[in-house]
Amino acid sequence: MRRLCRLGRCWRGGYKTGLNAETPISQREERKPRRAKKGGRAEARRYETSHMLSYEQARDKVIEQVGRRKGPRATSVVSVWDALGLVLAQEVKTDREYPPFDRSTRDGYAVRSKEATPEAELKCVREIKAGDAVREALEAGTCWQIMTGAAVPAGADAVVMIEHTSREGEVVRFERAALPGQNIVPRGSEAGAAQTILRAGMRLGYAELALTAQVGAVQLECARRPRVAILSTGDEVVLIDEVPGPFQIRNSNSVSLAAQVHITGGEPVVLGNAADRVEDLGEKIERGLKEDALVLSGGVSMGKYDLVENALKAMGAEFFFDAVAIRPGKPAVFGMCQGKPVFGLPGNPVSTMVTFELFVAPAIDLLSGAEARALPLLEARLAEAMKEKPGLTHFLPARIEWRGVVPEVKALKWQGSGDIAALAKANCFLMVPADREKIEIGESVSVLLRKDIV
Ligand code: AMP
Ligand code: MG
Repeated sequence: MRRLCRLGRCWRGGYKTGLNAETPISQREERKPRRAKKGGRAEARRYETSHMLSYEQARDKVIEQVGRRKGPRATSVVSVWDALGLVLAQEVKTDREYPPFDRSTRDGYAVRSKEATPEAELKCVREIKAGDAVREALEAGTCWQIMTGAAVPAGADAVVMIEHTSREGEVVRFERAALPGQNIVPRGSEAGAAQTILRAGMRLGYAELALTAQVGAVQLECARRPRVAILSTGDEVVLIDEVPGPFQIRNSNSVSLAAQVHITGGEPVVLGNAADRVEDLGEKIERGLKEDALVLSGGVSMGKYDLVENALKAMGAEFFFDAVAIRPGKPAVFGMCQGKPVFGLPGNPVSTMVTFELFVAPAIDLLSGAEARALPLLEARLAEAMKEKPGLTHFLPARIEWRGVVPEVKALKWQGSGDIAALAKANCFLMVPADREKIEIGESVSVLLRKDIV
């Protein structure tokens, strides 16, 4: 088994021997508290060995744990104008058949198909446009001029496109044979009356909203956006409207996390920053646990002042992973605390962003009453050969371009997981599998799209 050593501590690329993946880490690790060392390093991370999962396993863990706690959600009635991105909490049924009449899909002539043969001539006796009431039937030997969206009269079984006819006065000459049913959408063929067209758990995009509008369902019962508490940590972090001291940084993570929560369908509740002290962390975590989920940034690595796991544990958290075989983002932590999902994401901004996409986004989907959406992955052709250290799955800031049919992707130069500027130039993450070192130009690679801008 591959071994990756860090800070003198060994991480295995799999489950610790004799331990079961189902066992929450907190229970497993209880058995072996780390011996406190001089300098207090043991205070930071209590765990002797970490439970390092692949990113797929870690995602599955989140989906399994949050999915298991899926119960009835709070809902509210929302106007169709305000419901974009929300998840339906009701069924939507049709108010009548769709289309409500046999509808012409072309501008042309309504005919009896057997009469509209090549060279045939029919007398045009009426014109009918969209919205006109049609009560009479088409008589044999005649045709009606008809517009797109108009009701096809009884007796007609085809609409011939105007482009395939010529006309002199009232006489229409047909150039080719009409086929029965041609250019007509039959009444009720899109949906029957009182038919369920949208179900609870479906996300409302523009097409779904148009469908609700079509059937007159303009007030919709939707799941309330899950409230996601965002807590950054670190003594070096100041508010974004403060001028940082020479060795301080502004709290950009709360901003990116709030944006990510928002586009995933959650409501961000920004709690500010906690100092690297267990008491301050504890107080703010307690506040965060009042919301539907809690996302922390920073304080989950191996440093002496990385205290988030301990603070969570003191509040009763049960952990399901505390390391994932990815870079950036390896120290990501997920647990349940007082019935709420809690995520400890590493503080370096690109790590925070990647781990949110991988692990927090599916939890927000589930908390919204929807299924967890699949990762927006696609295949692309590598535009420039590259080399990476094997052992972890990499998610590198990259640009994907659609010049031809097959998209091309290129990793961007970056200074590591603190380099927000590199990610602001990227529109995706290039995934390098853990077992690859060199990838040649032209090879097929996987790409995780930045769904906020692509
Ligand atoms: P940590 O995971 O706490 O060790 O943090 C790693 C690094 O991430 C820190 O040294 C900071 O440079 C950066 N960082 C931590 N928190 C934030 C934040 N809220 N906003 C921006 N950068 C941060
Ligand atoms: Mg920190």
